[in-house]
This record gives sequence, C-alpha cells and structure tokens, in this order.
Amino acid sequence: MKQRILNTLEHYNHVKNHVFNAFNHPVIVLMYHRVLDQNEQGSPYTVTTSHFRDQMLYLKDHFEMVGLEDNWQNLERPACVITFDDGYYDNYTIARDFLSPQSIPATFFVATQNIGTKNLFWWDDLNLHQAFYEKSSGLTMMQLFRQLKNSQRNDQIRFFNKHQPPVCCDEATRKAYRSMTKQELISLSDLPHMSIGAHTINHLNLSKQSIDEIAFELRESQLRLEHIINKSVTSCSFPYGSYNRKVIGVSQKLGFNTACIGVSQNAYHWTNRLKIPRISVEDVALGTFKRQINRLIP
Ligand SMILES: [Zn+2]
Repeated sequence: MKQRILNTLEHYNHVKNHVFNAFNHPVIVLMYHRVLDQNEQGSPYTVTTSHFRDQMLYLKDHFEMVGLEDNWQNLERPACVITFDDGYYDNYTIARDFLSPQSIPATFFVATQNIGTKNLFWWDDLNLHQAFYEKSSGLTMMQLFRQLKNSQRNDQIRFFNKHQPPVCCDEATRKAYRSMTKQELISLSDLPHMSIGAHTINHLNLSKQSIDEIAFELRESQLRLEHIINKSVTSCSFPYGSYNRKVIGVSQKLGFNTACIGVSQNAYHWTNRLKIPRISVEDVALGTFKRQINRLIP
C-alpha cells in the first residue's frame, strides 16, 4: 500500500515537472574545475583558456547569465550559471581577468584543506606519480581512484603514509597544482558577481561518512571560508556530487540555502535548492559546445 502511494506520488511529481518544464525556462548550471592555457595531459577537469573564453562569450550572447543564489523566477530566456569546484589558483586568475570584466556571475566551491599551501590534492598526486603508486600498491589507477575516493579520511592518510614516491614534486609542479591563497579568496569574493561556496575540508565522499564526519566537513569548511572572506557562506557543492538524506539534512541545519549535486540535468526555479543538478563542461571547441548546450534546451 505504502509503495503504491509512493509510486503514485512519484508519477504525480513526474507529470507536474513535465508540465512545469513546458512553461519555464531552464537554468543550466555548468560545472568547471580548472581553466589553463594548456591541457597537455588531456585532463577531463581542465578547459583551455581559449575554449573557455569562446564558451563564455557564446553563453553571454544566448543565455541570461544568472548567479547560483539568484531568484530564478521570471526568466525571459533560458539561463546559465557558472560554477567552479575545488579552489585551484587558476580560478582566481580567470575570474579576475575574464569573468569579472564581462560581468558574468560565478560561484567558486573551495575545498579548504590546501588554502595557502602548495600541497596537492590527492588525485593530482596520484596522477603525477601513476607508475609508482600502481607498482607500490599493486592496484590499477582506476582501482586506486575508486578506493581512495570512497575512503575515510584516516584511511587516505594511512595510504599516503605507506606509499610515498621517492622523488616528491618540485617547486614548479607544486605551484602548478596549488589552491588559492587566503588573499586570492578575499580578492575573488570582493569582485562583483563572484561568490565563494564550501566544498568540505578534505574532499571526502560525504555519502560514505558518518553523520558526525559530514557535519564536521561541511561546518568547518564553511566557518574557515567565512573567517577568510568575512562574508556568510550559504552555498556548497558535495565532492563527487555524492549525497544522501543525511548530507542534505546536515546542510540544511548548517544554514546552506543552495547545494549542488552530481546529477547531470537542467535546473528550474522550482528545483529543490539543496539538490541543484549541474552539467560538467569538457575541453571542447565552440562548435561542439554549442551542440552540447543546445541539446539541453527543450
Ligand atoms: Zn571537487
């Protein structure tokens, strides 16, 4: 009986959303990570500067560019939101050099563990020393990524203490993969249309953590960022887009009013603001980008 009621409700929601979609413009929330002049390793998380500029100029001409926390009601045409995850230093350069003069709003979700240090995120460390880690652990890259992504923080620390590459990264490499400094975060958040959001401290997969760990990761990253930029931090994105009921509940309790999840579809003004879906952008030239974006317009 309960299942039948749930199925009916789900069906009702599906029909309701379908009807709403016909009368409301979509909000396409785009997810970027890094923007660099070169993407030598073909990283799926890097978009080259020239592609990024072409993509932004196209969006600005054809979409209403809105902020993540703006009111999305009464849009006159399909809208687009720009977001960045992780907090690499290039986000600051790009925002200052290109987004800000173009008045394109953007939100930057920052994992706080490496702010102001030259420490690497674990996945960059892994990529840079691929052969070493595979040999030392006896696992393939794919297995290592899956294992570390779903680990508890202590297990990650144990792994990297046990497997230490003989030659560590040189200064240039550390610079190339660094996170933003405190000052860069302050300058970024002072720019008009730019906002900072939380992305946990240690970039853990929150759906695999205890409720205490979820609360710690979200609360401490929010507090650290608020302390740095001296503004409220009310948006977050969940690492790997992963969430469950506990994660949403904790986010709500901590005062987040917007949270991004890892579902690849359009958002609408009536979308639950604690479950905003996003579209990941690849390093593609304008022609391909146009086709990919226009496929999203009903
Ligand atoms: Zn991330």
